[in-house]
Amino acid sequence: MGDDTGNMSIYRYGKEVLAYIMGMARNDLCWCGSGKKYKKCHKDFDDRISEMKFDVFKGQVRPPKKIINNRADIEGIRRSGVVNDGVLDLMATMVRPGIDTASLDDAAREYIESHGGIPACLDYEGFPKSTCISINNVVCHGIPSKKTILKEGDIVNIDVTTILDGYFSDASRMFVVGGKTTPEAQRLVDVTRECMELGIQAIRPWGWLGDIGAACGRHAHENGYSVVTDLGGHGVGKKFHLEPFVAHIGKPGTGMLLVPGMVLTVEPMINQGTKKVTVDSGDNWTVRTADGKLSAQWEKTVLITETGTEILSS
Ligand SMILES: [Zn+2]
Repeated sequence: MGDDTGNMSIYRYGKEVLAYIMGMARNDLCWCGSGKKYKKCHKDFDDRISEMKFDVFKGQVRPPKKIINNRADIEGIRRSGVVNDGVLDLMATMVRPGIDTASLDDAAREYIESHGGIPACLDYEGFPKSTCISINNVVCHGIPSKKTILKEGDIVNIDVTTILDGYFSDASRMFVVGGKTTPEAQRLVDVTRECMELGIQAIRPWGWLGDIGAACGRHAHENGYSVVTDLGGHGVGKKFHLEPFVAHIGKPGTGMLLVPGMVLTVEPMINQGTKKVTVDSGDNWTVRTADGKLSAQWEKTVLITETGTEILSS
């Protein structure tokens, strides 16, 4: 038995080296875990990438295989996203003047748990609550609290991430408390949503990551706003945060190649004044604008498909 194990490991090591030198054999099972033969799954995909030229001066890089989701993975994220969207729909019915943000957070956690999920934010690197609720000059990572009471005219971001059967989905929406705010605040909320939508519309399979940031950033700057660059979007799937980091400024044609099977968030944080932000020294979480002016954010989880995109959570 001991000898067999030793021989097996030598055999397997040899096979791995051979696969590395020769590439995957056409009849091997595909690296994506689909269970299909390589020639019927990602062979054309790999051939297409190997024929491409990557311009290092534009930061063009291949996406790592570990962030390419197979059909089962995508279905898992999609199902997680249905629960996540349900939380945000619930929040939409609850946001009103006078409610405290801990009550919103409790309802979100109960919704996720009653649908078989886990709130990803709870205990994430010590975060104490299930959602991030960020009001007015808070850019993101606001901690829900009994002491934080929503008032008419506040602009509020509620950011929810659900884990269902090991799959993450992540989205956030803005809410105007009481339905009415100043024209300046309303314009920031609206333009930020447009930035997100334009960023998503810029995504093309076999396009580039920089296309997203270019579209988001251009629209923000044209409207006289700044774009937060200390934080950004991310790949999402079997983990909360995966490659790539999604910047909301950028140049078209730069950065990582975007390919079918990638799932990432587009989540621009747009500020009225400076793009500079500070982290609360007391709780080490709450991110605020450095100048105290307003900030807004919208977020969707986006799948890159063969022909375009599919929204998996919004
Ligand atoms: Zn495959």
